[in-house]
Amino acid sequence: MNNILIIDDTVANLEVLASALKKAEREPRYEPRCVKTGKMALRAIAQHLPDLILLDIKMPGMDGYEVCRRLKADERTRDIPIIFLSAMGEIQDKTQAFTAGGVDYITKPFQIEEVLARVETHLTLQHQKRQLQEANAQLARFNEQLELLVAERTEQLKKAYRNLEQLDRAKSEFIQVIAHELRTPLTVVRGYAQLMGNRTGDDKAIAGGIVSGANRMHAIVNDMLDMARIDAGAMQICTDDCVPLSSICQKLVQEFTPALQERKLTMTTEPGSVILQADPDLAYKLFYHLVMNAIKYTPDGGAISVRGQVIEDEDMAEIVVADTGIGIDPEFHELIFEKFYQTGEVSVHSSGQTKFKGGGPGLGLAIVRGIVLAHNGRVWVESQGYDEAKCPGSKFHVLLPIGTVQDN
Ligand code: ADP
Repeated sequence: MNNILIIDDTVANLEVLASALKKAEREPRYEPRCVKTGKMALRAIAQHLPDLILLDIKMPGMDGYEVCRRLKADERTRDIPIIFLSAMGEIQDKTQAFTAGGVDYITKPFQIEEVLARVETHLTLQHQKRQLQEANAQLARFNEQLELLVAERTEQLKKAYRNLEQLDRAKSEFIQVIAHELRTPLTVVRGYAQLMGNRTGDDKAIAGGIVSGANRMHAIVNDMLDMARIDAGAMQICTDDCVPLSSICQKLVQEFTPALQERKLTMTTEPGSVILQADPDLAYKLFYHLVMNAIKYTPDGGAISVRGQVIEDEDMAEIVVADTGIGIDPEFHELIFEKFYQTGEVSVHSSGQTKFKGGGPGLGLAIVRGIVLAHNGRVWVESQGYDEAKCPGSKFHVLLPIGTVQDN
């Protein structure tokens, strides 16, 4: 039922309107209530909230405007639609009716069809307004729940991330401890093997084997320690130092000549006039790993190059280590810089340090990145893809700050 309150001091009006509303054929039906004064109206409304009000303007005592103002001032009655009834139909009246908060205005003598049509329209509007308010409230509740859920999930993710960080730290510390523990006995083994190597005959050959094995293990242990230091942010760097790229290249040639000859690879170095503002030991280590990889992933007969040039505007130098090797799938261009990351099957890797595809522990490029970042530089790889038959090659680009060598 739609409860409609009619307020008019003329009884005849009340009767006509009430009977028309009662007779109206619609669902839900109208249930009219009639009162003659403003005061009675307020009492009737307080007892039972109507769905719509038909309100006469001119009444003795409290007039229609005043009733309307009071209803609009009360939160409980504010939204009830009020249609004003007036005998005069003057412009002034209409304006005042809308200003007071009425939704519509009907002039007397009224046409019943018009009254019914206006009542119907405003009840429908009111119904739609309520539906909209309910939908909005539901949306707000849903949003609130969603926000709670997101906050909960974010907290869970943060927790999982903290756990992962802790695990990663524990792993790094474990690696560091193991590497330290291994280093001392390895040095002893290497020392004794070197002593044995001073003898002649079979002993010398056996000792040579032990020394090279121990050297390899030493290199891996050192890589593990470097990685642990990078992870802990404890890499000690001396960035005040400057080092010419040419001297790094010289050392690289010296270090890798035997491997290059064995693998029938050529290595060209063009350091240009590049002077790096970098820790000399770490800068060497960085290029050592890049050249070592270039050797490992280039088939016999291939070519390797190390080229440097200064980028004046940026106070940086770009050094490119290029090879004619098997290349790297673009999918892995970022991942290969993660520690322990290796592409390809570990089981098919050859174990020799500079053998073709001789897999290592997957630390080389992570150390390279750690060193480059510690110098505020950048490193990235360029390669068309992985193809052992066509060998598209790889180019590792390194950007490092430049410096000047002081003359003493
Ligand atoms: P690893 O000890 O396996 O060499 P790295 O961190 O040095 O570890 O390299 C990670 C992976 O990146 C390697 O396993 C290899 O698959 C790929 N890679 C690195 N350098 C090259 C290169 N020059 N050519 C082709 N693949 C490379």
